[in-house]
Amino acid sequence: MSPFPTTADIRSDVQQALGVIGVDLDAVKGDAEVRSPITGEVIFGLAGHSAGDIDGIIGRAAAAFLTWREVPAPVRGRLVKRWGQLLVEHKEDLATLITAEVGKIRSEALGEVQEMIDVTDLAVGQSRQLFGKTMPSERPGHRLAETWHPLGVVAVISAFNFPTAVYAWNTALALVAGDTVVWKPSEVTPLSALATDALLARAAREVGVPADLHHVVLSDRSGGRQLVEDPRVALVSATGSVRMGREIAPVVAARFGRTLLELGGNNAAIVTPSADQDLALRGVVFAAAGTAGQRCTTLRRLIVHTSIADHFVGRIADAYRTLPIGSPTADGVLVGPLISRAAFDAQQAALAAAVDQGGEIVCGGGRVFADDQPSAYYVEPAVVRMPSQTDVVQQETFAPILYVLTYHTLDEAIALNNAVPQGLSSAIFTNDQAEAERFVSVSGSDCGIANVNIGTSGAEIGGAFGGEKETGGGRESGTDSWMAYMRQATNTINFSGQLPLAQGVEFI
Ligand code: NAD
Repeated sequence: MSPFPTTADIRSDVQQALGVIGVDLDAVKGDAEVRSPITGEVIFGLAGHSAGDIDGIIGRAAAAFLTWREVPAPVRGRLVKRWGQLLVEHKEDLATLITAEVGKIRSEALGEVQEMIDVTDLAVGQSRQLFGKTMPSERPGHRLAETWHPLGVVAVISAFNFPTAVYAWNTALALVAGDTVVWKPSEVTPLSALATDALLARAAREVGVPADLHHVVLSDRSGGRQLVEDPRVALVSATGSVRMGREIAPVVAARFGRTLLELGGNNAAIVTPSADQDLALRGVVFAAAGTAGQRCTTLRRLIVHTSIADHFVGRIADAYRTLPIGSPTADGVLVGPLISRAAFDAQQAALAAAVDQGGEIVCGGGRVFADDQPSAYYVEPAVVRMPSQTDVVQQETFAPILYVLTYHTLDEAIALNNAVPQGLSSAIFTNDQAEAERFVSVSGSDCGIANVNIGTSGAEIGGAFGGEKETGGGRESGTDSWMAYMRQATNTINFSGQLPLAQGVEFI
């Protein structure tokens, strides 16, 4: 068995990392319990923000916006550049906090910090490229152009499983766009949030920008609700479950605010007869079992051709049986804990429902280390063969369960891929170019992410990230995602000395 740290060890590592990063521990102490899923025990007590505190924070962010929007975008980029440098400097410390709070293995925790660093690079470049187009006017002596302006206060509501990266995706771009940011991190991961924010605060001091550009709100969902309802918040960028999206979207819409929603996924991979099976196996196992199945892009459905299904599923089961499960702090461990007892209960309920609905558990699903770690929830990743895409397969269960379905024709496989309410990520493993092209074409995958010969998870920040249908339609990080944080104005400029009206209309 891999060694487990004691809760005292975790607490001491966390306090050291917070101290080095510059979080004032005495200032944030309180009664709200922060647990580590590694042992399931309390590692810290934090103070939360009251409704009055949050009201004041939104007010300060709204006031700071009036100054920040006047700072030229390339100058705003300097703040994000310095933040990125500090993230590089404290990569290890932040990874320690992410592992302690979320249970990610070291390389995945470091990867999450790297993702923040990458997006700060992207945003700094973007600060000189907030392009507006110039269009030909139909009238002589006229110029028609678009201009992009800062939007206002952006509320970022984030999920537990990417406790810092999602904040950076939003904040790096929002800051260069000229917005101010109020962040309500998951109630499960406040320490990673405080540390990430402390580094941004240090960058702000060093670069000499106005105070109050960014704030962290420590609260449960009631604090999120307050941000969602407040008309001073121009954009609510919310990452989390479909349930959360359903609750907040109508509230923001009722006040004609903007939302950027990054909600749950139910991601599939098709494995065709021509696929390189060694490569597909590695892609499938990382996507399905990595992060203990707790990524929005986790592979949850495998759609495999009948001619190779038995053999390929057998290979997955063999690989699963040798996956090292244990403390994410231990060398060599690849599968850490589930976040909570509730996540374990949901995993057990989904497995029971799958069996009820005709499924056959091929391997895994059981709890491990229950005697050594009675308050923590480690599970064996499960593979379950299903007769069809039943109710339980249609839902996202945030745990490592891979449902296997089979197909005869590519049309059938694509139909299965698309026949769920969510539309985040998808993949095909094939060496047949026509199949690959079909999958990424208009009549292929209906997801925001459609990959070829690579799994569903582990996106790079250069491409826009997000999904369709119940996943919410938002896009973050690369390509044109910056536009979500700005407002567009169209300018018609007349230098003709005449006043010709558009569409040939005649008036005075
Ligand atoms: P969650 O929905 O329980 O909570 C997410 C955040 O929303 C938390 O900060 C929570 O406090 C807040 N919240 C919840 N209900 C709210 C409400 N009614 N009003 C305002 N705020 C509210 O999700 P979770 O368990 O933290 O994370 C797992 C979920 O997040 C999964 O469904 C996963 O797929 C999804 N996720 C999606 C993406 C993506 O980019 N699409 C990324 C990461 C996670």
